[in-house]
Amino acid sequence: MSLVVIGTVAFDAIETPFGKTDKIVGGSASYAGLSASYFYDKVKIVAVVGDDFHQSEIDDFNAHGINTEGLQVKKGEKSFFWAGKYHNDMNSRDTLVTDLNVLADFDPIIPDSYQDCEYLMLGNLTPQVQQTVIRRLAKRPKLIVMDTMNFWMNIALDDLLDTLKMVDVLTINDEEARQLSGEYSLVKAAAKILTMGPKYLVIKKGEHGALLFDKDSVFATPALPLAEVFDPTGAGDTFAGGFIGYLAKVGSINFNNMKNALIYGSALASFCVEKFGPERIKNLTQEEIAERVQQFVKLSKFEL
Ligand code: AMP
Repeated sequence: MSLVVIGTVAFDAIETPFGKTDKIVGGSASYAGLSASYFYDKVKIVAVVGDDFHQSEIDDFNAHGINTEGLQVKKGEKSFFWAGKYHNDMNSRDTLVTDLNVLADFDPIIPDSYQDCEYLMLGNLTPQVQQTVIRRLAKRPKLIVMDTMNFWMNIALDDLLDTLKMVDVLTINDEEARQLSGEYSLVKAAAKILTMGPKYLVIKKGEHGALLFDKDSVFATPALPLAEVFDPTGAGDTFAGGFIGYLAKVGSINFNNMKNALIYGSALASFCVEKFGPERIKNLTQEEIAERVQQFVKLSKFEL
């Protein structure tokens, strides 16, 4: 049994009020894969990079026990590149550059050894490619979680709506939930999105936490109040990786386990923002994670 993560493995250039990076490793599959690897030891990545991507970065994934057999390296081509600049509030950002490069004609290869996929994380990526991966798995996974963003709503909405019909959980941020549903109220937005395919919806609200909906219930988690947020890039993907990684670890899908998954995802995301890029989530210990989760428990526990 395994957890397959598809998404981008990329170079990012990030600007925040605290500093600026040159090209560093990023991408939705990088963050989600690393994050999931703290919960589950059979994480497998499907993605594409150019030959500008360093082998040492692939070695880093492998050192986390991540199988990279499905990571294609395209000779003579360039990796996906994204550049973004955060506003002073660190919650909103402008995308400065999205160079699809190898992603433009990405044809995902699913190695035979990935056909044991029980949990599928469709990280932020072309909706058409997300769908192709589902179709190329001989057996439908037990749980399919999909992440996406406004970029794909703007340029590939029909494909996105088709893919949505095939998944169990959608994770998006509040702005994207409003765009997708045409509703300002997040409660109304959730009700509408839950008619589009997914049985569960997670709405990420940055420093204001996250909401989990199914058709009958709603659950909220805060984000951890942090003295310093250095770089929010990848927090959403890190959340998603922690969320599905935790569910893969416990092995049973219900609203109660999803509530805990929301906390574990949020805990991992809180580490991610402490340093530029995926640096912080490359070097976590189980003790640090357990301690952080306890902080979440303490933060919102009260008695009447
Ligand atoms: P997040 O901050 O969770 O939205 O994730 C940021 C990461 O997503 C960065 O590392 C980017 O490389 C990657 N990314 C940015 N735009 C896209 C896109 N259109 N499709 C897939 N991945 C993207």
